[in-house]
Amino acid sequence: MYASRCLASISLAAMVFTGAALAGAPNVATDIMPVHSLVARVMEGKGAPSLIVAPGASPHEYSLRPSEARILQEAKLVFLVTAELTPWLDGAIETLAGGATVIELLETDGTTKLPLRENALFKAHQQGDDPDSDTHDPHAWLSPDNAEIWLNAIAVALASADPDNANAYLANASAGRMEIEALKGEINTVLEPLRGGKFIVFHDSFQYFEAAFDFPASGAISLSDARDPSPARIAEIQTYIADQGVACVFAEPQFNPGIIAAFADETKVQTGVMDPLGADLEPGTGLYPQLMRRLATALTGCL
Ligand SMILES: [Zn+2]
Repeated sequence: MYASRCLASISLAAMVFTGAALAGAPNVATDIMPVHSLVARVMEGKGAPSLIVAPGASPHEYSLRPSEARILQEAKLVFLVTAELTPWLDGAIETLAGGATVIELLETDGTTKLPLRENALFKAHQQGDDPDSDTHDPHAWLSPDNAEIWLNAIAVALASADPDNANAYLANASAGRMEIEALKGEINTVLEPLRGGKFIVFHDSFQYFEAAFDFPASGAISLSDARDPSPARIAEIQTYIADQGVACVFAEPQFNPGIIAAFADETKVQTGVMDPLGADLEPGTGLYPQLMRRLATALTGCL
């Protein structure tokens, strides 16, 4: 009697701390905040996913903390964009989450995949250097069409792992898709008056946003994997800024702001912040739309 009451209170405490296991919803791990947000939208009312890459960190290079290793160990489902974004996560999943179902969202049917761009300066409407390349730009969550497709894929995976809540997952995904449709219209309206404005981004991570809203960047200081840029690459961009009337250079909270400050000193260009991850936003269902909205207002505020 005493023992069973004790057990009951232990499992209640465990539920409070993991926050996930209500109504039988499975433990779900997600890589980055935008994916966490989409999964949270699908699970709304039934449970909540856990996040692996801490807010403010770069997913390109990361060391798991013990609490994040535990999230993987306990996960029944793991949602990630692609191992091309988080190469370190492959091994961690293999060691820690061997029994989990792993869904690489970039490989979902219907997902738009854009090839990597390597030049510092992009040609107009250039989408990657080699259209047949099988290395893709991993920042694919910044395409709202991909987000819609992924909501569906997330719901299908959850429904299969947790059939009791299948209807709720599918209904949430469908409502989430309608929200993203409305968001696309809203962002197009905000960006419309500024089409043709020239800007440079910090690391080449906004290609999907540029393509979705027909709002191309002129170039990126750093490559898509966020490696430090070579002096030649920096010089090429500085010359371009001086010659071509670039209005704005964008920093990112995940990376060293010193490089952008040096640019601004050198070229007198305006600076802003564009954050592809939503480092300072509240994690959860509202993060994805807020993150997308904020990219648009960063552009309008600086151009
Ligand atoms: Zn990146």
